[in-house]
Amino acid sequence: MSLEQKLVAHIKENGPMTVAEYMAACLYDPEHGYYATRPALGGDGADFLTAPEASQMFGELIGLWCAHEWTAMGKPAINLIELGPGRGVLMQDAWRATERVEGFHDAANIVFVETSPLLREAQGDRVPEAEWATRLEDAPPGPCLIVANEFLDCLPIRQFARVEDGWREKLVGLTEADTLTFGLSALLPAQEDDVLEGAVREIAPGLDALIYEVERRLHDAPGRALFVDYGYVAPGGADTLQALRRHKKIDPLDTPGEADLTAHVDFARVAHLAHEAGLAVHGPTPQGRFLKALGVETRVDMLTRANPAHAQRVARELHRLTHPDQMGVLFKAICLSSPNLPPPAGF
Ligand code: SAH
Repeated sequence: MSLEQKLVAHIKENGPMTVAEYMAACLYDPEHGYYATRPALGGDGADFLTAPEASQMFGELIGLWCAHEWTAMGKPAINLIELGPGRGVLMQDAWRATERVEGFHDAANIVFVETSPLLREAQGDRVPEAEWATRLEDAPPGPCLIVANEFLDCLPIRQFARVEDGWREKLVGLTEADTLTFGLSALLPAQEDDVLEGAVREIAPGLDALIYEVERRLHDAPGRALFVDYGYVAPGGADTLQALRRHKKIDPLDTPGEADLTAHVDFARVAHLAHEAGLAVHGPTPQGRFLKALGVETRVDMLTRANPAHAQRVARELHRLTHPDQMGVLFKAICLSSPNLPPPAGF
């Protein structure tokens, strides 16, 4: 039975599902889910190319950022926690780049938060030192540096649509021919009134839960959490649910489980929750500016001098990571910190 057939049967029995339930099924179904079945995420035949997959410089700079922040914290024993490490490329590059930072490797305990058994295997191949947790809650306590690239964008969203007479929730239901289709719920108790018809609001329930857990950790012990992702600072009313298969956007209801489903991250929400909890918030700042502040151009010079034959490739990677037409502006970095730490590098 395909995931599509499974979903059709489920909807027949229980009625339409929320977009969040649909996303969760497509991404995490243990048998058919995108992450559960795709060891080749990244690399050849990938559906999308993330920053660490595009250039070793990304992970290297994040690694040096971690070593810098660890030093600023007074060099404690520290959990280096990565959420959703994919194939483990970011940490592999980060670890290599910090080899010569005295004491850092001895002090750091790498913890990967990952649900997919296949991806855990790929991560272990690249970073044999790592241990795993299924959820952030299960990672060991104590001082921490949390990093996450393109993790928040896969947290399932619910969508609410402004229609003529109020708000309705977008749902996934069935056509008369029993194929998947988007529909709308009954009218919801109306709130925001001055929003144009056609606007969509998105809420990621898992985002709030994750940020609460980060807050708990950063109040219990000193630490920081660095999130890099694509998203917006002010909600524009657009529908940002997106399905990517082999670098092409497809209909999110097409071939459930076979495409990567994501939504833009609401950075204003992340900042708001962290502020309310008394954490220090730096950013969101555009990825291009963040990487330049961390010295990506110096890194380019070093790599080019070390291997002039690769100069063109390295220049292309720099362009991809930092140019406004590429990942430079849509992607943003935000850092949440325990109170009383000095400002982090890069902001
Ligand atoms: N950070 C990597 C991969 C991003 S893809 C990169 O930049 O290349 C998203 C990753 O998050 C995958 O490893 C996926 O399996 C993992 N993931 C998604 N949802 C998760 C969840 N709720 N808990 C733990 N890991 C999750």
